Amino acid sequence: MTRATPLADTMNDVDASHLVHGLQVSFQHLGMTYGTGTTALQDVDLSVRTGEMVAIVGPSGCGKSTLLRLAAGLERPSRGSVAVGTRSVGFIFQEPTLLPWASVRRNVALLGELARLPREVARGRVEDAILAVGLEDFADQLPRSLSGGMRMRVSLARALALEPQVMLLDEPFGALDEMTREEMQLQLLDLYERRRFTALFVTHSVSEAVLLADRVVVMSARPGRIRAVVDVDLPRPRGPELRFEASYVDQVKHISELLRGVR
Ligand code: ADP
Repeated sequence: MTRATPLADTMNDVDASHLVHGLQVSFQHLGMTYGTGTTALQDVDLSVRTGEMVAIVGPSGCGKSTLLRLAAGLERPSRGSVAVGTRSVGFIFQEPTLLPWASVRRNVALLGELARLPREVARGRVEDAILAVGLEDFADQLPRSLSGGMRMRVSLARALALEPQVMLLDEPFGALDEMTREEMQLQLLDLYERRRFTALFVTHSVSEAVLLADRVVVMSARPGRIRAVVDVDLPRPRGPELRFEASYVDQVKHISELLRGVR
């Protein structure tokens, strides 16, 4: 499911009272055991600074999605705490489930939070978001007439229209072909340059993590624990040329090796 995101009402359990200044998301001694008895996360300590982009990589089933759902307040932790310094949170999932009968513009506009804004303000936000993802020529079309990449851009625009301070992205480009995926990575980098939201980004792709993130968190197989946190040493703004630079390639290699070690 793609939600982008009327989360505010679900965030009551996500406490911000013990967030240190400059931090936007913080997990402390976090543990999560589902009702089925599966322990998805154990002893996770992680803080994300305001305006920082953090990528999470790890084997399938290590609790990455669980971590994002906890940040969104969609699940309650079994142990430890989650703190999020804002209620302005956008959530983007792998499948950009759009309303098939509604145009791109209506899909972006149909969010509860936007409805509470003055109509002109909401309209401006919607148009800005559509422009930001480059879909202005397709605003009146239905989702079925769009490519997979364009549908994902609608999903991004829907989240951006709320101007969220925190973006939670769960494998947002996982279902796209490689070329479209690369385009979307650059688009996200560009949006990040302009809007500087705080982001937690789950991905299977180490190269994507290094391209996008300020830090990459490597998690172990279930129960997910943090095995390493690697600072990405690459200047911003970042562009496509980075993929060929030795420093980028070295960092991808280093993190890939760490990841191999936890499987
Ligand atoms: P990842 O995103 O890293 O693939 P998940 O967070 O989806 O991992 O899942 C971590 C573990 O928790 C898996 O073993 C999964 O089967 C289990 N799990 C996820 N969601 C639920 C749920 N709602 N109920 C029970 N177990 C779940």
